[in-house]
Amino acid sequence: MADTPKLRVAIIGAGIAGLAAAIALKHHEGIDVQIYERATALAEIGASIALGPNGMRTLDRLGVYNALDDSVAFRNISRHPMIYRQVMHYKTNEVVSTDSHQGDVEYRHLTARFYRAHLQEALLEHIDSSTIRLSKTFDSVVLDEEKDELRIKFADGTTATADLLLGADGINSAVRRFFAPTSAPTWTGWVAFRSVFPISHVEHISDLPDEACHFWGPDRTLFVSKLGKGLFTVVASHNSNPDLPDAEYKGAEWDSPGDVSVLRDYYRDWSPLVRSIVDAIPHTNVYPNRAGHGLDSWVLGGGRVTVAGDAAHAHGGAFAAGGSLALDDAWAFAQSILTVFPPDSSRKPSAADLQKALRLYEKTRKSHTDRVLETVHKGNRKRTERIGRRETDEELRARMKNREDVAWIHEHDVQFTFKNALSSLFDERRS
Ligand SMILES: Cc1cc2nc3c(=O)[nH]c(=O)nc-3n(C[C@H](O)[C@H](O)[C@H](O)COP(=O)(O)OP(=O)(O)OC[C@H]3O[C@@H](n4cnc5c(N)ncnc54)[C@H](O)[C@@H]3O)c2cc1C
Repeated sequence: MADTPKLRVAIIGAGIAGLAAAIALKHHEGIDVQIYERATALAEIGASIALGPNGMRTLDRLGVYNALDDSVAFRNISRHPMIYRQVMHYKTNEVVSTDSHQGDVEYRHLTARFYRAHLQEALLEHIDSSTIRLSKTFDSVVLDEEKDELRIKFADGTTATADLLLGADGINSAVRRFFAPTSAPTWTGWVAFRSVFPISHVEHISDLPDEACHFWGPDRTLFVSKLGKGLFTVVASHNSNPDLPDAEYKGAEWDSPGDVSVLRDYYRDWSPLVRSIVDAIPHTNVYPNRAGHGLDSWVLGGGRVTVAGDAAHAHGGAFAAGGSLALDDAWAFAQSILTVFPPDSSRKPSAADLQKALRLYEKTRKSHTDRVLETVHKGNRKRTERIGRRETDEELRARMKNREDVAWIHEHDVQFTFKNALSSLFDERRS
């Protein structure tokens, strides 16, 4: 192994997918991973993010135990992933329906909520910081056939070489756009107002929920939850019809400062509990939700390039599934590489081996994430249809009770799917 040339893997983006993929490959002495990140620093950025049992199990599998710790991962004691409530003009706060884990989920894999920076820090603890190149914005990639390597160009004019490239550069992925220029996600009309602040701002509220709760009203929702390290999060929302030229928040910038007085106005008719939480929000940021369609293929650049996380499936964070999908992608990507290049291998994988690995990765992940995207687009269409049509209390309650059961997303078993994909690819080869 010491004399075998290393397989050079370039990862674009030091988000959740990129960091997890690097962690999953780091024990292989024959693989050199370099991460290229657009940001100038990996600063504390973002608000709250949830991981379902699938993402929690993948963190466990990757050995990222620090992220499973109660100090950063907030779980509902009741074991319900969330509690759906409706709060309307009669201000009941009553629990109309609950969701629950379907399978056998042990405590450390229960759905958890993180301050995104805590999750990112936990992942970063497992990465050699010298492998992360900051201020490197992906621009383009070509295959140098003579040298049999990829030449990656960055926006600052510098270049890097690699054998394989993973685009983990988020929802507006430049890697995905490079191969599929018309794949850019579009605004869904939904806007989230995310706030994270010390819990001391809301501790005076006598009936503050101990659990993560999702309040539903006829035209918007409010999500509240405790987070690790004494933090609290609120996610408020607004819906517009994205097709209208003068739609409110059309063109709003992602993660731009919002106005808390607007939120107080949105929720003025809601229950006293909701109003006291919204009144206590010290600041908020605006996150216009964007979603796109799946790629025809995840095997790009002649079998040398692929994508993971939001870059592969721009689902816009629906069902709070983005973090877990990114982790499962990262694990499946790494596992596919390790299949064609096991740690005891005495030769660097060929171009054909790499292509096979990417086909295995695609087979493991694409049909599942395509189904997630279909479900997301269906939900977005229904939400837009409801705009301007005031729901009755009965209709709202029915919508809450009959909402789609998405345990298949949160409890998806990537390991099982990987094994099936592996055997079906071998069956294809034999027949
Ligand atoms: C700053 C930030 C804050 C977020 N906040 C929240 C939040 O509060 N709640 C929530 O649910 N989700 C949030 N998200 C999205 C969430 O992290 C993802 O949906 C999910 O975790 C999937 O992760 P990902 O690794 O695919 O993408 P991301 O976590 O978005 O990571 C993508 C990474 O690629 C980098 N990048 C982008 N373009 C380029 C380029 N051209 N070249 C090099 N690097 C590039 C980005 O800077 C980023 O570090 C946030 C994402 C980011 C980047």
